[in-house]
Amino acid sequence: MGSSAAWQLADEGLKVTLLEKQSNIYTSGSSLGEARIARSFGGKNDKWSYLHNRTVDLAKNLIAYLNTTEPDSHSMTDIYNTSPVTYIRNKSRLESVQNQISEQTDSVLIATNMEEGLELFDANLPDSVFLLREYKEFSGTINPSKIIQKMHLAIQHKGSTISYNTKVTKLVKDKSGFKIEMIDTYSNEKKIILTDKVIVAAGPYNGELLLNTVPYFDKLIDIKRVFVSFFRLKADTWNTLEDSIKEKLVDAYPCINSTSGTREGANFSMVESRDDTGNPLIKIGGHFQRSEIHELDSTWKQKLSEEEIEWSRKHILRYWKFIDLDIDNDDLKYESGYSCVYSLSKNEVPYITPAKFDGKMDPSLIVLGALSGVGAKGCLAYGELAANYIQDKKIAGELYQITKEALGYDRLVNDILALSETEETKSH
Ligand SMILES: Cc1cc2nc3c(=O)[nH]c(=O)nc-3n(C[C@H](O)[C@H](O)[C@H](O)COP(=O)(O)OP(=O)(O)OC[C@H]3O[C@@H](n4cnc5c(N)ncnc54)[C@H](O)[C@@H]3O)c2cc1C
Repeated sequence: MGSSAAWQLADEGLKVTLLEKQSNIYTSGSSLGEARIARSFGGKNDKWSYLHNRTVDLAKNLIAYLNTTEPDSHSMTDIYNTSPVTYIRNKSRLESVQNQISEQTDSVLIATNMEEGLELFDANLPDSVFLLREYKEFSGTINPSKIIQKMHLAIQHKGSTISYNTKVTKLVKDKSGFKIEMIDTYSNEKKIILTDKVIVAAGPYNGELLLNTVPYFDKLIDIKRVFVSFFRLKADTWNTLEDSIKEKLVDAYPCINSTSGTREGANFSMVESRDDTGNPLIKIGGHFQRSEIHELDSTWKQKLSEEEIEWSRKHILRYWKFIDLDIDNDDLKYESGYSCVYSLSKNEVPYITPAKFDGKMDPSLIVLGALSGVGAKGCLAYGELAANYIQDKKIAGELYQITKEALGYDRLVNDILALSETEETKSH
């Protein structure tokens, strides 16, 4: 999110300094990895669809700019993998999804019973579920690692600065502006920057970083560990599959699966990458497979439990059964897994907002936080919102306004109020 806001500002001719505590190789952070689901399907005025579609447009601008500096070296396919996005759900959600279909223009196919499942997707749907697929250019997966690399390249081409290995240790504000204290993580050298405008986008570290300035964010943004597991078909199995089955398997991803009827069973899965033979590395995780964090810095290295690996395996196989893929548990090999972190607001909607400082809106301090499981698909649009705030740039457009409002200042003020009411109740 920070790279995205910095890129939008650099693109508009501002001189930006991006402070990043990691090196230019990203090893921890919510954006770690090569694939996230990028999807557009949604009803009228759906902010998530807007954020995805706007990000696609802004990604085209980024690629076009990079190709002016390095002709024919950058392409949208470096960032996006277009692939049908599958939503497989419990029938209890069918009516609302059918309403959404009638309100939107994306191309979708839906199977609501066994016959339609067979005809449209060669699937074996039980009575309780329906399956919808979205077909749209650049819906599929987005690669966070690639888009960060490209934004950093573009920021530097525009003459702005990225200071890697620079950890911000303190942010304070007084009448003369912001004082940012930082440390070089290699040399331990300390440095201070004085500036009049700051965007804070430290992912799970936002609360900690804002403690000396706007401490309420630490209470408004919760952090939770989530895990992802990676599986692959054994080489012997993959190599003996017919091409049509291989294609069917790959086309079945990415998938958002909420058929189990519980939040804990809800899962997302996607193809993270493919080996030389085309054998996909399948990633699976659950938005509600959350656990407490004991020490944030080491969370990314925390091993998965046997139960977590088994949960992952079970849900891959369960989905394959629905889509009639005759592949057994014995054919599936667990490759690896890692722990990651979600930052969450109470209603799980991100904050892209000026902070409330000294009792009023402070347009010089913008926070991008609590991006939970929705940050990647809208990454460039979130950055654009932050960049517009800091420049006090007004943008017309109903969907832009709806999104800005849902993520923005009035909602922040309400959340701060609710927080103080809860604390007051507790103290009585
Ligand atoms: C397992 C998982 C699956 C997900 N799936 C999807 C999906 O399918 N689709 C989707 O759209 N989204 C998905 N998301 C959400 C998305 O990945 C996140 O919302 C997004 O990556 C958050 O980005 P961020 O910039 O807020 O945080 P981060 O990527 O954590 O960025 C914060 C940056 O700040 C730096 N930093 C922190 N503290 C300091 C400091 N003191 N000084 C300097 N630098 C600092 C960090 O090094 C890091 O680079 C998923 C997330 C997870 C974890």
